[in-house]
Amino acid sequence: MHGSHPTPQTRSFPLVTAPRLDSMRELDQTVSTCRACPRLVAWREEAARVKRRAFQDWEYWARPVPGFGPPDAPLAITGLAPAAHGGNRTGRIFTGDPSGDALYAALYDLGLASQPVATHRNDGMKLFGVRITVPVHCAPPDNRPTTTERDTCRPWLARELELLRPTLRAILVLGGFAWQALLPVLTNTGWQVPRPRPAFGHGAHAQLTDARSERVLHLIGGYHPSQRNMSTRTLTPAMLRDVLHRGADMADVPVHRSRP
Ligand code: SF4
Repeated sequence: MHGSHPTPQTRSFPLVTAPRLDSMRELDQTVSTCRACPRLVAWREEAARVKRRAFQDWEYWARPVPGFGPPDAPLAITGLAPAAHGGNRTGRIFTGDPSGDALYAALYDLGLASQPVATHRNDGMKLFGVRITVPVHCAPPDNRPTTTERDTCRPWLARELELLRPTLRAILVLGGFAWQALLPVLTNTGWQVPRPRPAFGHGAHAQLTDARSERVLHLIGGYHPSQRNMSTRTLTPAMLRDVLHRGADMADVPVHRSRP
């Protein structure tokens, strides 16, 4: 971005700022300065002040958590929002909580991540052909952003998807809330969503077309690797690997499967 940006305390900050950002690097840096949602700013900072007992020695990130992964990834993965003591602590999305542990292990098993365990934004992790992001960049109370917060944050994801657009072929959407949050963003960024709107489910698949060309974007649903889904075996590690594998295949990202 060139020049100074508006004071990041108003709800219009993402709307005004995001379209001006010309690179993923600028986007990632600028997202992390956002303070547009008062309730979420208070919550993310409160979590950092109170901390969990296990993380007393940590200096929490306590800011919006940007997307992670190469800016030319053919496959995107979206959750809903960072966790208060996960991404909000470590500064990297899906890093530092049980959901992230399951997701990065699956990515590693398929050769899509350089390490099986993600611990912190400076742990050296690399993703290959995959970018992980969220429609809401700040940790919300009870993992539930309000509709206003979701809409306020939307321009960041819209810009991210525009920057990814030249290479993007598939999006794996983890969880029904993320699915609901993502569809309007895709419509706003020029993808034609089938009607009736495709319903979320594990393995759900929809093909979106580019309003301006013949390009197709595959949307794949997958259960969120939440602690609850994993402990009840609603989602098993094998199911998570399979749905990831499917997303990678649709995006033409090579997979090197290391586990049966
Ligand atoms: S949720 Fe999004 S819009 Fe709201 S403060 Fe965080 S980064 Fe900004």
